Amino acid sequence: PKASVETPAASGKLVENVVIIGSGPAGYTAAIYAARANLKPLVFEGYQVGGVPGGQLMTTTEVENFPGFPDRITGPDLMDRMRRQAERWGAELFQEDVEHIDVRSNPFTIQSSEREVKCHSVIFATGATAKRLRLPREDEFWSRGISACAICDGASPLFKGQVLAVVGGGDTATEEAIYLTKYARHVHLLVRRDKLRASKAMQDRVYNNPNITLHFNTEAVDVVSNTKGQMSGILTRRIDTGEESVLEAKGLFYGIGHSPNSQLLQGQVELDSSGYVLVEEGTAKTSVEGVFAAGDVQDHEWRQAVTAAGSGCVAALSVERYLVRND
Ligand code: FAD
Repeated sequence: PKASVETPAASGKLVENVVIIGSGPAGYTAAIYAARANLKPLVFEGYQVGGVPGGQLMTTTEVENFPGFPDRITGPDLMDRMRRQAERWGAELFQEDVEHIDVRSNPFTIQSSEREVKCHSVIFATGATAKRLRLPREDEFWSRGISACAICDGASPLFKGQVLAVVGGGDTATEEAIYLTKYARHVHLLVRRDKLRASKAMQDRVYNNPNITLHFNTEAVDVVSNTKGQMSGILTRRIDTGEESVLEAKGLFYGIGHSPNSQLLQGQVELDSSGYVLVEEGTAKTSVEGVFAAGDVQDHEWRQAVTAAGSGCVAALSVERYLVRND
């Protein structure tokens, strides 16, 4: 049964200062800053990504571009450190999904699978989900050949100097393909349609790059492996003729976009046409006073752990100022 409003959350207050929703780099960084500011934040960590808290980095192996870790750090290890740091400063963590929120009047109401909480401010850090193709062997090769982030994985030993493929025909895919040519021996771009959707400038860059081969009317059907169980190619199908063939490639990058996890805010704060939370430029402020957004849920452009963490910091400092102003 859901606790009533009169039943306080474990922190013992009726109206919380701040509730943070999400446990990726944005959510935990916001939690660290808010806890250090003595705001006693509650964090709903969620378990949507693989049934564990920690967000998207829980699904990867090495994170090679987060500052401060020159040797080795895996995604799960990095997230565990952030989590412990948030806990150490007093953030209260609930491994629960938020199912409903109401920010139409302050105090806001946050309802999870286990409890209902009232709060003066919210930091929304629910991230985004990279769209997947759902290939039959996708789970088997996720992070072992299939990736959704060229900037994150392009330079890794798994892909460096290899023939790679990117799926998609928009700006994301063309950007990924161009980026990968820095490291790869050659890049194939698989496009379902008979033309690119990307901007003219990106199209020109692709057409003028001798290290990219375009395959129009072509879709990826599955991943092919060698006798050692490593990814060795992609089974492709021509949309127009139905003809199937194997394209030799050691990596497959999805450039088919991301879905921001913003459903909870739909109809309550302003979202852009793709569902990203709109924030005032250079801030974490949404269209509703007291509601702040950080990380990939409000960022369709950079989508990096360090940018998510940075925006989590901005959101927590903004909450601190907001609460002082409204004290
Ligand atoms: P996320 O990490 O997406 O976390 C969002 C959190 O919100 C999750 O914990 C989720 O469970 C929670 N949540 C969602 N809905 C709810 C709800 N209703 N209630 C409660 N909780 C909820 N970036 C890099 O900089 N370097 C890399 O090497 C790198 N590698 C990557 C590898 C992979 C495979 C992927 C998918 C991404 C990678 N990225 C990398 C990108 C990076 O992971 C993201 O930019 C970053 O995680 C975004 O952080 P975030 O806090 O905004 O959201």
